[in-house]
Amino acid sequence: MLCLFLFVLVHLVLSFCGHLSLADLVQMLSAATLYYLNQYYQQNLLNFYGNAQEYRNPKIFKNLLDQCYGKDWYTYTKETFSGPLAVIRYLGRYTHRIAISNRRIVSIDEHTVTFTVRDRNKGRGTKTITLKGVEFIRRFLMHILPRGFVKIRYYGLLANRNKKTKLKLCRKLTSSPAYKPKFEGLTTIEILNILLGKDVTVCPVCKKGKTKAVRSVYPGPFP
Ligand SMILES: [Zn+2]
Repeated sequence: MLCLFLFVLVHLVLSFCGHLSLADLVQMLSAATLYYLNQYYQQNLLNFYGNAQEYRNPKIFKNLLDQCYGKDWYTYTKETFSGPLAVIRYLGRYTHRIAISNRRIVSIDEHTVTFTVRDRNKGRGTKTITLKGVEFIRRFLMHILPRGFVKIRYYGLLANRNKKTKLKLCRKLTSSPAYKPKFEGLTTIEILNILLGKDVTVCPVCKKGKTKAVRSVYPGPFP
């Protein structure tokens, strides 16, 4: 049997100002989470399996909610020592990559899939793992968002309808620097240099010679 369950990981990037403490924020988030959990319960949208079956009993479920409301919620927060760009990079790893790249899949046979994973014991080393096909797919599917979910949702100032008006006004009021697209006016080579963090015109073999563009090939139907 293929058993799927929902694991929700939420990262929040907030424009923070002094009026709201982190404690307030955690309180708001926990209250919202429990509120919607209860709504789903009332609408019969939750399933309970195994030793969670007892929560089908409304009294026991209510008791669980009460306990959760009474608990201190733990949020993981971290100061961005390396600046906002590092945070965005980190998030980009979640939001703009698929669960596993083809490159990591070493072999596939009728029953199993073998792929490489990072080996925590070896620092930067890797090892291979072999899983039954169904288990591989189960893990892969955990990375596919349920219907109606998006990887990035913008609220408030960054919501689409506010971006052009309120965000602009806000930047003006806080005298924030004007935003200019990073790659505007750059050549393809210059953009590649930035993205790859090295000079792409240097010969990769002798590290001395310079390569130069001879011909451009544009994507299109194969001639
Ligand atoms: Zn060379």
